[in-house]
Amino acid sequence: MNISITNPATGQAIGTLNPATAATVQQLYTAAKAAQPQWAATPLSHRLACIARFHALLEEQLEALALTLTSETGKPLQQARNEINGARGRIQYFLQHSEKYLGEEWVTTEGLTKEKITYEPLGVIANISAWNYPYLVGVNVFIPALIGGNAVLYKPSEYATLTSRHIHRLLLQAGVPEGVLQLVEGNGTTGAALLQLPLDGYYFTGSHATGQKIATALAGRMVPLQMELGGKDPLYVMDDVADIKAVADAVLEGVMYNAGQSCCAVERVYVQAGVYDAFCTAIQAAAAAIKTGDPLAPDTDLGPLTRREQVGLLQAQVADALEQGAQVLFQAPAVPQAGNYFPLTLLTGVHHGMRIMHEESFGPVVGIQKVQDDQEATALMNDTEYGLTAAVYGQSAERAAAIMAHMHSGTVYFNCCDRVSASLPWSGRKHSGIGSTLSYQGIRAFVQPKAWHWRG
Ligand code: NAD
Repeated sequence: MNISITNPATGQAIGTLNPATAATVQQLYTAAKAAQPQWAATPLSHRLACIARFHALLEEQLEALALTLTSETGKPLQQARNEINGARGRIQYFLQHSEKYLGEEWVTTEGLTKEKITYEPLGVIANISAWNYPYLVGVNVFIPALIGGNAVLYKPSEYATLTSRHIHRLLLQAGVPEGVLQLVEGNGTTGAALLQLPLDGYYFTGSHATGQKIATALAGRMVPLQMELGGKDPLYVMDDVADIKAVADAVLEGVMYNAGQSCCAVERVYVQAGVYDAFCTAIQAAAAAIKTGDPLAPDTDLGPLTRREQVGLLQAQVADALEQGAQVLFQAPAVPQAGNYFPLTLLTGVHHGMRIMHEESFGPVVGIQKVQDDQEATALMNDTEYGLTAAVYGQSAERAAAIMAHMHSGTVYFNCCDRVSASLPWSGRKHSGIGSTLSYQGIRAFVQPKAWHWRG
């Protein structure tokens, strides 16, 4: 049955998708399986040249691609451009470093025996992806997987179908053979059908709830499974901050960039008592200056949410907090137009018994809690099922480093937040995921090592 694709800013239909059935995914798999050995046998330099052409095509077609991305996700147009350029930066990293990390390595010589490691592709892998940053979370997987010699069944989110069609088209135009990259359009039912195939690896970006279903379906399969899941990321403002206004601006950006729909968005804020009032005043003033509205307007900071259901979830989280005694520090006026808009909302007087402080929100809302010292902040920051990122703001590097060393998260930030680097591993702990993308670990995540013991 066809699914309608709607523009989240207007509610208007802008396309349709016809989800791939179990029979279709089987055909796509058969074609990918047939095409993969030849792709793996091409020199790495050829595969890199294809990806370099894709990189150039993204630049050439940036404006049209950004418009499509904004039309189906609702993100402000400048943020759509930023996303595509950010993805180009990551591709550049893979282009520059893959030869080094995929080449053979002679490691030791013991007597007559020489020893080396080579890296071989896994085969045919699935890339089941999220909608919030389709370019960024996509390139983390399909680029190193293709460079490594794999075939990829690319299953984008049903909320990023139009963008995924562009990505697929441009990769083929860049020289990736048709069988090697298969676009698998569809929703969760299509994703579940991929789990029934005898694939050589599964790479998932999405929610913890879906991740659990995937892990359960694949239990006992003995193939690589990587998961980049959700977060409830904390940020702590220490009382020795130099410029409280600058910190408030940075925190607000971390809360509401991409309408808060970032896995590493700032979702909980802890502020030390000595600067609490000043911080609240500063972030309230910063929030008042945010412009919500049409994502195509050049001065819009905050657009609609991508998924309509998320509006109800955020309303419920805020209502639960208010019922339990939270106060509204700031709430933007409702946007007088159709679309999935949710007003930027800052709450104080929050505690961890409230949903807003322990469930992923994935929207432009945040709870701000007063703490007395680093010990209390550390305990509260770690009091979560998630473990993606954690941030500390202040002047004392020593205090910050002590807190950061105790964070149960894959990423820690000092005086920055909501940031991803191609050179560093992107990995979650606990309910935030398993395995790493990006960095050299994210190049090696799509190959398998072979150990050579060589006398001769
Ligand atoms: P989602 O879990 O709803 O969907 C993700 C993908 O899984 C989609 O392609 C969907 O069609 C597919 N899917 C759904 N049910 C499935 C099933 N039973 N079997 C197989 N596939 C299935 O997540 P979403 O709403 O697309 O993305 C938002 C979530 O992703 C948030 O929790 C966010 O934090 C997380 N995320 C994490 C990262 C990261 O790097 N850690 C990055 C981006 C998004």
